[in-house]
Amino acid sequence: MKIINEIKFIMPSLSVNEAAARAVVSSFLIQCDPTVEELADLRTAVSEAVTNSIVHGYRNSGGNIEITVRLLPDRVVFIRIKDSGCGIADIEKAMTPLFTTAPEEERSGLGFSVMQSFTDKLTVKSRPGKGTVITMRKKLAAHE
Ligand code: ATP
Ligand code: MG
Repeated sequence: MKIINEIKFIMPSLSVNEAAARAVVSSFLIQCDPTVEELADLRTAVSEAVTNSIVHGYRNSGGNIEITVRLLPDRVVFIRIKDSGCGIADIEKAMTPLFTTAPEEERSGLGFSVMQSFTDKLTVKSRPGKGTVITMRKKLAAHE
C-alpha cells in the first residue's frame, strides 16, 4: 500500500524511552490532526508495546527497539514496534486478558488487551530467542 509519510527510529531499551517514544509518535501524528482521544489511544498503545519490549523482551539484557510509524491512504495509521529480545513462545496465551509472566512485578496482563481495544487491528509476530514484532493499525475519523 502507498505510504504517504513515514518515520522510523531506533532507541535502546531504557524505561525513560517509553515517554520519548510516545512523544515522537504523537508529534509525527499531529500532521493528521487527530482527535484528542485518537491521539491518547495511540500514545497508550505505543507505550504498552514499548514497555513490553523493555520489561519482557529485554528482561535480562538490553537491546534496541525499532519503531516505524506510517500514514497510509484514507487516514490509516500504521505503527510497528520491533525488538530482538527473548520472544514469545505461545502468542495466543500471551494475548489472553490477565495473562502475565511477571505477576510479582504487579503486572496485570492487560497490555495486549489495551493495544487491541485502542486500535482497529493488532498483529503479533514472535519467535523465541529471535524477538517480537507488534503491528497496529487505526483509521482516524474523517476530517472536514
Ligand atoms: P501489563 O501490560 O498489564 O503491565 P503484561 O505486560 O504482563 O502486564 P501484556 O502486555 O498483555 O501483559 O503481555 C502479556 C505477556 O506477553 C507478558 O507477561 C509477557 O510474558 C509476554 N510479552 C509481551 N510482550 C513481549 C515482548 N515484547 N517480548 C517477550 N514477551 C512479551
Ligand atoms: Mg505489558
